[in-house]
Amino acid sequence: MNHRKSRDLFNRAVVKLPGAVNSPVRAWSAVGGAPLFINRASGPFIFDADDNRFIDYVCSYGPAILGHAHPRVVAALADQAKLGLGFGATTAIEVELAELIGSAIECAERVRLVSSGTEAGMTALRLARAATRKSKIIKFDGCYHGHSDSLLVKAGSGGMTLGIADSGGVPAELAALTMVARYNSVESVDRLFASARGEVAAIIVEPVAANMGVVPPLSNFLPELADLAHREGALLIADEVITAFRLNFGSISEAMGVRPDLIMLGKIIGGGLPVGAVAGSARVMDLLAPRGPVYQAGTLSGNPLSVRAGLETLKILKETNPYARLDASGARLETGLRKAFASAGIAARINRAGSILTPFVGTSAACNDADDARRSDTKRFARFFHAMLERGINLAPSQFEAMFISTAHGDDVIDQTSASAESALAGLA
Ligand SMILES: *Cc1c(COP(=O)(O)O)cnc(C)c1O
Repeated sequence: MNHRKSRDLFNRAVVKLPGAVNSPVRAWSAVGGAPLFINRASGPFIFDADDNRFIDYVCSYGPAILGHAHPRVVAALADQAKLGLGFGATTAIEVELAELIGSAIECAERVRLVSSGTEAGMTALRLARAATRKSKIIKFDGCYHGHSDSLLVKAGSGGMTLGIADSGGVPAELAALTMVARYNSVESVDRLFASARGEVAAIIVEPVAANMGVVPPLSNFLPELADLAHREGALLIADEVITAFRLNFGSISEAMGVRPDLIMLGKIIGGGLPVGAVAGSARVMDLLAPRGPVYQAGTLSGNPLSVRAGLETLKILKETNPYARLDASGARLETGLRKAFASAGIAARINRAGSILTPFVGTSAACNDADDARRSDTKRFARFFHAMLERGINLAPSQFEAMFISTAHGDDVIDQTSASAESALAGLA
């Protein structure tokens, strides 16, 4: 496989972009080598600068649930672009998107659109602190909620991949307000409440964790968490930036019987363009300016292109209801990968929720929290990553990411992936 153009681009990028990337998860620090530069993508495939074709399991880290460049989404965008790119005023499609989200997610009585999941997390915290007049928050080791200061503590894949537990540049005084619990352990949350009674504004959680690799909640984890939060006068913030509209048409928390006080959205609801949203009860959301005292703003918040792409994507998902098929595709890939690891005699624990999954390489123990995830063999994962790439399969360059399957990944593509895994792993045994 020829990578000459990518290498030339990398040599230029490394001079001008810190670490040659605009987001650290794109770097190949954990797997070694110079990252490929991508030119274009279509359906389940991406093509690099040298025109090599790969089956893509990054899917833009989640938004591309319909595959890349879905014709209806592209047509909607082209149509919208002709109408102007932004007006600094509210549009009909923003109302339509908020209504559609509200029809699918019960707790979303009000929706504020922002431009990233990071902003959604930042705003959700500010709202929770204003609503409760408390300042501490509880998050989970391995969960990522964007890169705002308060949330950049033990924050999952990016840091886990690079071995950075907590970010530089976050004042210790601020980090001290963020307490870290163990995912899937209500007891660990209980202990934190006991040490800070009456001071906790919110528990923030990924209802299905996907930023330490995929780690689903054990049964009762979420309901018990919600009960505990409410007993203690704290809000439950569900970060569904990945999971909303990925696992069902709506919120996976609600599908599991939990109604969050605030929910963070992003990724799929922007159809591939920058987006985020915080939504929740009218009581809490109406604290936002201009109705209330909690300030939040954005020049391009709810911009017509992101909104139109997201709206079209959600409409397609609603019309086609692909979730059973996505789950079947996930199960098919899980089975294929399981066989491939078994026939190579390499231990792996495969966690899956619908169309997102992670093979934790080199461990056969259950992966229910970040410590479990960290027990995987990241060196062997790195070799797996490169062996797959050589066979035309694009994985995220980290053990601690999800593989994302889209509706464009047909059985043939999935079976080809499994066959590639079998041959890749045979060489690593
Ligand atoms: C991607 C992600 C975010 C951050 O969204 P950005 O748009 O990258 O800022 C927040 N939470 C979760 C769970 C995510 O996966």
